[in-house]
Amino acid sequence: MRILVLSDIHANYTALMAVLEDAGDVDETWCLGDVVGYGPDPNACVEELRERPMLTCLLGNHDVAAIGKIPLEMFNGDARLSLIWHEKVLAPSNADFLRSLPDNTKVRNDVTLAHGSPRDPIWEYIINTLSARLNFDYFDTNWCFVGHSHIQCMFMLNEGLDRITLDSPKVGEPIKSNGRAILNPGSVGQPRDRDPRAAYAIFDPGAKTWEARRVEYDVKEVQDRMREAKLPERHTERLAEGW
Ligand code: ZN
Repeated sequence: MRILVLSDIHANYTALMAVLEDAGDVDETWCLGDVVGYGPDPNACVEELRERPMLTCLLGNHDVAAIGKIPLEMFNGDARLSLIWHEKVLAPSNADFLRSLPDNTKVRNDVTLAHGSPRDPIWEYIINTLSARLNFDYFDTNWCFVGHSHIQCMFMLNEGLDRITLDSPKVGEPIKSNGRAILNPGSVGQPRDRDPRAAYAIFDPGAKTWEARRVEYDVKEVQDRMREAKLPERHTERLAEGW
């Protein structure tokens, strides 16, 4: 069984399509949230995702803001400008889809899923071994998949030593582990690990493997459309470098 695990699409339809094509046939799709925000294609991304059979999708912090559930003041200037634009262009049926998404963790095939962290599902970033260590106490399954930081990475817990390691998985080389781990597939639409390629992962629950993957897409074309939509230049520029 192959499960496509993706997160932080951020309204980048070109990157999303590159990922779907690269992933090929999958049995299920798990999206860890932030379908919208930053990019030029919120409607196209929501519509593409909604059509996926066997979809599990969580609510992310940008999704929450785009549907008006929290004050936009919780975001910095550029992110706020972008969200105001998203709120304006999002079609009512696509906003309804986002409204229907769960704002808590979900367990699927013995894996816990969260946008940010199991402790604080929408907002907390797991970016270092300390935040990972605290979060291992908040889920019961062996593995937990999170997004939010836009960094493709894995935190492994050595229970004997009570020590956490943080690694970047080798792209295209499935890892197999029976130990406890927090895994991040990275971001489809706005990677921040200095690799501009769209990031995602393939999970096989039977074999218990996780394969981190990257795929190139036409960044320039997305940047052109962001400039046309007058979205913040900082968000446009960063796509080329992956920061
Ligand atoms: Zn995000």
